[in-house]
Amino acid sequence: MKIVVMLKTLLFNLIKGPVTRKYPYEEREPFPGERGVILMPDESKCIYCGLCARKCPSNALTVTRAPGKEWKYERFRCILCGACVEACPKKCLEFGSRKQG
Ligand code: SF4
Ligand code: SF4
Repeated sequence: MKIVVMLKTLLFNLIKGPVTRKYPYEEREPFPGERGVILMPDESKCIYCGLCARKCPSNALTVTRAPGKEWKYERFRCILCGACVEACPKKCLEFGSRKQG
C-alpha cells in the first residue's frame, strides 16, 4: 500500500514541477507592501548630521564628515525599523524596493 502512496506522490511531483527557484538566475518578485531597503534618492539633500546613524539600533548606518563626506548603509544589518527615516531632519531617506537597492 505504501508503494501506491509513494508512486502517487512521485507522479504528482513530476507533473507539478519543482517548487524551488533557480536563484540567483530567477529572483522572486518582492511582496506588495514590503519595506525592502533604505534608500537615499537625492544625496545632495543630506547634511551629514549623523542623526540617522545615532538612532539606528543595529548600527547599519555610518555617517562620516571628514576627511570625505560619506553615508554608508549595510543592508544585511538593517532590521527595517524605520527609525532613520523618521529621524532624518532633511527627509532624504525612504523605504524602497530591493530591486532599486
Ligand atoms: S539624518 Fe538625514 S541628513 Fe542627517 S546624515 Fe542621516 S540622511 Fe543625512
Ligand atoms: S531602518 Fe532601522 S535598522 Fe535599518 S538603517 Fe534605518 S534605523 Fe537602522
